[in-house]
This record gives sequence, structure tokens and C-alpha cells, in this order.
Amino acid sequence: MTLVRERSLFDAVVVGAGLSGLTAAICLQKSGMRTVVLERRSSVGGLCGTFELDGHRFVLGCNDFGAGLERTLRGLGVEVDFMHPGARFYLGEHRVDLPPTASTAMKFFARPLSVARALIGAKKDTVRSLGDLLDGHVSDPLLRDFVAVLAWAVLRSPDDVELSALKELFDKRWDYGYDRASTPVGGPQHMVDRMAARFQALGGELLLDCVCHGHERARDGHVIETSLGTFESELLFSSHGRWNDYPAQSRAGLEAAAVFFALDPSLRYPEGVHTIGCFERGTADALRALDRGERSSVCSFHVFRSDLAEPAGAPWTITGFVPVARGVRTMDEGESRALLEAIGHRLERVMPGFSQAVRYQRALSPAEYEARFGFAPLASPRIAPEGFARPPTFDAASGVYWLGNSAGPPGDHAGAAVLSGRLAAEHAIEHHTSRASVDSRMAETQHAH
Ligand SMILES: Cc1cc2nc3c(=O)[nH]c(=O)nc-3n(C[C@H](O)[C@H](O)[C@H](O)COP(=O)(O)OP(=O)(O)OC[C@H]3O[C@@H](n4cnc5c(N)ncnc54)[C@H](O)[C@@H]3O)c2cc1C
Repeated sequence: MTLVRERSLFDAVVVGAGLSGLTAAICLQKSGMRTVVLERRSSVGGLCGTFELDGHRFVLGCNDFGAGLERTLRGLGVEVDFMHPGARFYLGEHRVDLPPTASTAMKFFARPLSVARALIGAKKDTVRSLGDLLDGHVSDPLLRDFVAVLAWAVLRSPDDVELSALKELFDKRWDYGYDRASTPVGGPQHMVDRMAARFQALGGELLLDCVCHGHERARDGHVIETSLGTFESELLFSSHGRWNDYPAQSRAGLEAAAVFFALDPSLRYPEGVHTIGCFERGTADALRALDRGERSSVCSFHVFRSDLAEPAGAPWTITGFVPVARGVRTMDEGESRALLEAIGHRLERVMPGFSQAVRYQRALSPAEYEARFGFAPLASPRIAPEGFARPPTFDAASGVYWLGNSAGPPGDHAGAAVLSGRLAAEHAIEHHTSRASVDSRMAETQHAH
């Protein structure tokens, strides 16, 4: 039975135990603030975690990080080991490995003029987006497919990927470290469980299955109504997102269908590789067509290994994502089967024996994914018009710190989410400390009189 509280007092309430909420909570608790995290689901991690489907464990979504996140977690005292695997992309008939192997480097060295044209084009002021770059400066088919991978990663049409946003991924100011892939040993759920454990070891309180229904400002802070009772706190952090402050014309990126495979342990995943992308020729144009709401015959997708600590001899699992046409949210049984077949067929060429090794497979449409987890399978929740500056994490009008990818540091990825949690907490700690010292000085002054 869950205990419903009458009224609980905390220095800080954090709504949501995703990456941003957990990071903020650790920072706050570490600074000595009595902090509680309220999470509506029965596990922590938000989009970063695992779930069980018909007896098999799969990764939900977020799985691949930059080395900056690893550094941040280490700084917070979260004990997790990381690996630094590569990624492998099949672009039409070409195989491209990242970091580049000798054969990958040779493919690009063999196209010096095309590569030079693309690099010069990317520096021009008139080239704002990947779409501009493709249309004006990239005609080589391999390079076009390679550029498409960048749009793929954020599930957008290349016309909706600003070059300035790509540069921010590698900006030293944010230290996202996406030039070096980082994946947690034991999988993403293990990582977020270690974050929760660190928070609790510092004395923080974590309440699962606790839905926040709403909050209002009180004289000295906030009153938060939840399914487990009422909470009061001076500071409030919310993972809901500040999307209401985005311009009306901003829209979401593309949604993806998710595919899940459990495989016989005799099948081997390529050594040293985490993500495998299979892109048919013309993926950039296929993304544009999907964005217009047209179904595409090009079936490009990526999969990644779950990296879970499964018992020896048990099947291991992979998760994959395939973007769907804008507005298409459901799939009938025939469409799901055809999708799994097409992906299985392609993966057979990458991992010979794949089809025979499949012990379980399932596809979830965007609507099914959202109904099951409460998150839309959207890597880009909002594409704001060019020039729109993301609102700050602290909203002075409501007094709320907004966490995650809607506010604060740029980027729609885990690195930005974690950084939003850290920066919000640091801002609040500074504010809270100066306010606490003003309060104590005032109390001292009153006492002296
Ligand atoms: C399919 C997919 C794959 C992705 N893969 C990657 C990747 O590989 N690498 C990468 O860097 N980024 C990836 N991303 C982006 C990444 O997942 C997000 O940037 C990150 O997870 C955001 O973290 P968050 O804590 O802000 O939000 P969330 O993960 O959404 O967490 C919010 C939390 O708040 C809880 N919550 C919400 N409302 C309430 C309420 N009313 N009461 C209580 N609790 C509530 C939710 O249950 C959830 O636990 C991916 C995104 C998607 C959709």
C-alpha cells in the first residue's frame, strides 16, 4: 500500500526522475538541500532505461552518449563504468565506420574534390541547413548519404537541421563530448539506477509511482499536488518542459516506429560496435518525403545492442528505430510484419545467421510506443524557427526551474538534458544560499534590536 502524505516540506522538489531531474537532484542534495524527486513511473530514467516485453528486456530509447556526460556523472560521484564503442553505417553499398577505419578514410580520400566542395559550402553564410548544403554543394551519392545520417540522428528533414546546431554539439562551452561515443557498461538502466542510488546515498528521497497533478506558487515557494499527497518546497524543478514558450509555428520532428529483437546467444554482434545504421541510397530525400507526410519505399533504420547484463546462455536483445511519415501514428499487423521482415532481411547481410537467430520480434507504432511508456518516440520534440533562442531554465514568472531539452543549453539529447539539470541546480543553489544568508542577517539584525 502506498502511503499518501498529508503535507511534506522540502527545500527542493524535483518532478521527474529522468536524466535532467536526477542530475539536478544529486546537485541539490549534495549542496545540503533537502530534496525529493517525484516520478510518475515505477522506475527511474524517463526515456533512458529498459522495459520488459513478453519476458525479454529491451532498451527504451536513449542509449548512446557523449563523453561529456560521463565526465559530469563522475564529477557528481555516480559510479558507472563506460565503454567507447564505434558505430557502423551501411550507406547504400558502402560501409562506413566511426571512428573512421583505414577503409572508411580511403572512401573519403578517394573523393577529394567532392569533400572539399562540401567543406567549403558548409562555411558559406548562405548555407544555413543540411538541406542547403545537400542542394548546393554535395552531389556525390556517398557524401549525400553520409550527410543524411546527421539528419537521421535527430529524426528531421535535412532542411530542419541548422548547421549552427550541429556545431554546438562540439562546442567546448557545453563539453557534450559527442566526438567520443560513451555507453554505460550494463546498459542505460544501470546508469540511471546508479544516479538514483547516489542521490539516495546523499540522503535524498525518491518517490516512484507519484504523479504530479499541478503546482502553484505560495508565499515562500511552491505547493505541489501529487497522487501521493501535497508537497511544499522553496524551490521547484520540473521536467515537464517549457514548450508553451515556443513560437506557435514550431513543430515536432519525425516520429519513429520502434523494433525489438531477442536473439539466440550463438549470434554475434559486430565486435566493438554499438550502433548499426542501414541506410538505403537516397535517405536524405526519403527524410524530406516523410516530412511531407509521404510514405517512403526506402527502409532505412538503425539498431543498437542493449548491453544488458543477461545470464549466460540467455537471448540478448537489440532495439531499433525507423522514422515514419509525418502524421502516421499507427501500423496494422501486416505493416508491422513487413517492417520486421525488411529489417531482418537487411540485418541478415550485416550479421549472417540473423534470421535463424531471432527468438522474439516485435514492432511498436509511434502510438503504441507512446501509450505504453508515456513518451512519444520523438528525438526532436520541437523544431523552432531559425533564430529562436531557447528560453532560460529559470522562469521568473512562475518561479519554476524547467529541466530537459525545452529550456537552457542547446541540443535535443541526453548531454543537454544532464547539463540543464546541473546548471539549473547551480543557479538555484547560488540563489538559495544568498537568500538564506540575507534571511539569517535579517534575523540577526532583528535580534540585535
Ligand atoms: C527514441 C529516442 C531515443 C533517444 N536516444 C538518444 C541517445 O541515444 N542519446 C542521446 O543523447 N539522446 C537521445 N534521446 C534524447 C534523450 O532521451 C533526452 O534528451 C533525455 O532523455 C531527456 O531527459 P529528461 O530527463 O529531460 O526527460 P525524460 O527522459 O522525458 O524524463 C522526464 C521524467 O519525468 C517524468 N514525469 C513527467 N511528467 C510527470 C508528472 N506529472 N509527475 C511525475 N513525473 C513525471 C517522466 O515519467 C520521466 O521519467 C533520445 C530520444 C528519443 C525519443
